[in-house]
Amino acid sequence: MSFPDPSNPYSFDDFLSWRDGVDYYADDAFLQEVVRTYAGAGADAVDARARDFSKKLSFRWRQLSEVAATPENRPFVMHYDGHGHRIDRIVRPLETLELERGVFDERIFSPSLEPWARLTMIYLLNQNGESCVTCPVACTEGMVALLERFADSDELRRVYAHITDGLDGHVGIGAQYLSEIQGGSDVPANLVEARRDGADWRIYGKKFFCSATHADYAVVTAKPTGSEQLGIFLVPSWLPGDKALERRNGFTIDRIKWKMGTSELTTAELTFDGALAYPVGPLDRGLANVVGIVLTLSRLNVGISAAASMARAAREARGYAKFRTAFGQPLERFPMVHAQLQSLDHFARRSTAGAFGLYARTLSSGLQGGLGTEGTLDERRERFLVRELIMLQKLAAAWDATDVVRSAMSIFGGHGVMEDFSVLPRLYRDAAVNELWEGPRNVLVSQIHRDMQRAAQWFPPAEFAKAVAGPDADGLSDLTHELETLVTHPSLQTLDAQTVEVCVRWDALCQRLVHVWQDRCLGECT
Ligand SMILES: Cc1cc2nc3c(=O)[nH]c(=O)nc-3n(C[C@H](O)[C@H](O)[C@H](O)COP(=O)(O)OP(=O)(O)OC[C@H]3O[C@@H](n4cnc5c(N)ncnc54)[C@H](O)[C@@H]3O)c2cc1C
Repeated sequence: MSFPDPSNPYSFDDFLSWRDGVDYYADDAFLQEVVRTYAGAGADAVDARARDFSKKLSFRWRQLSEVAATPENRPFVMHYDGHGHRIDRIVRPLETLELERGVFDERIFSPSLEPWARLTMIYLLNQNGESCVTCPVACTEGMVALLERFADSDELRRVYAHITDGLDGHVGIGAQYLSEIQGGSDVPANLVEARRDGADWRIYGKKFFCSATHADYAVVTAKPTGSEQLGIFLVPSWLPGDKALERRNGFTIDRIKWKMGTSELTTAELTFDGALAYPVGPLDRGLANVVGIVLTLSRLNVGISAAASMARAAREARGYAKFRTAFGQPLERFPMVHAQLQSLDHFARRSTAGAFGLYARTLSSGLQGGLGTEGTLDERRERFLVRELIMLQKLAAAWDATDVVRSAMSIFGGHGVMEDFSVLPRLYRDAAVNELWEGPRNVLVSQIHRDMQRAAQWFPPAEFAKAVAGPDADGLSDLTHELETLVTHPSLQTLDAQTVEVCVRWDALCQRLVHVWQDRCLGECT
């Protein structure tokens, strides 16, 4: 008769050695297929760059992310130095600093980098969660896109050089500060003011949600004195020569927020008191440009981030279900678990394929502020489709990511909620933030409804549904019928019983449209 070993030698080490040996790109045949499908002639070069990048982020950078995410390593602000100077230093752990340098030294926004390599690298990066790099990467991308169009002064050209290929071996980092205390969704209601000071502009007022507070530069929205139009300004965090002295450019960091997710990244409340600022683009087109370029790119990034976190969650849940046994058999042998793993895989794959497919369309159509009237009807429709799909993907993929990561956590049982057992709780907390920033769901679904109404004359809902689903898609007539019915409802902003019912259906339809788009892209990849 054999007795159990009272010291219980149970160990997770086999699971850990599998998990920690995964190379996010080299071990993901599906992702490689997606890259081959969309990257076209440059696929080999993208593949090579992704393999090289993945070797860093799957191992050393993953470890740095994990250490930086521990509570004792939370970033904080040091307002004064020991000699009474106001410095507002963002103090971050060495792990974050090493990770940040590693990532930005890749020169992801160099004009010489192939866009598909950039996308694949950003996707892979997001598998490690926020880690104080993915928000700054997204913000820098928006800043680069703005400056590509509007860098019309020596100062702005210098900033562009700094955040793309770097200056003196250092690659600059961007942030974006739009939201104010009275409302983040209603950007046109911003109160921050830009005042003339001779030939210069200076910013006054408060911004209430300022992430990537350690950045070198921020895109700031403000109204020129006396104007109701919003302008875009670029505000350096330090003027030339002042960074080493830690003398900030006319603003203070009042407080760092205590938040649920993206905790390795500071989100701060700022007061601007005469910060020197450079106008970016026409000052009466700031709203269209900040939404059409900056927020649109950030929303694309949210879709990519959601897909990446689902991919990691699905992979690790499957690995755990192979390793872990209950009642004498591996978890993956239980039909309930089997079905959940299949669903996790499907969501991860469809959202990855959808994000790459949408990126392809974005590259060919380009971004622009507002609905625009330029070009042929086909070009106009294509731009509209991309604009709407970016909002749709943002809201739907971010929503799916919280469900998928939570479901992956449940495969781990009680270990699923342990912060030091797996990355899943951190991905879950980050996913909750993704739902909210860059436009919360309600705001986006309402905007999409308004857009569809405004475009209905030249892009009827039936044509839109066909463009999303493909001309031969199953269920197209039902999709079209629902879209046509709901778009004819005059407004989602009037509180009555019928509108409430339409809102519920419209919300569900938005989610469905994204899944239809994603499954179409998935079909192209497999
Ligand atoms: C962690 C974190 C970091 C952030 N970092 C930044 C940053 O770096 N820079 C920056 O500018 N902002 C940042 N934000 C702010 C973020 O973009 C805003 O929180 C967001 O835009 C919503 O604004 P609000 O919080 O004021 O919500 P509100 O605008 O008050 O909205 C509250 C609710 O009302 C709904 N709602 C609002 N308007 C409508 C409408 N017309 N129709 C239907 N429903 C509506 C919204 O969907 C939401 O559900 C950050 C937010 C978070 C959580």
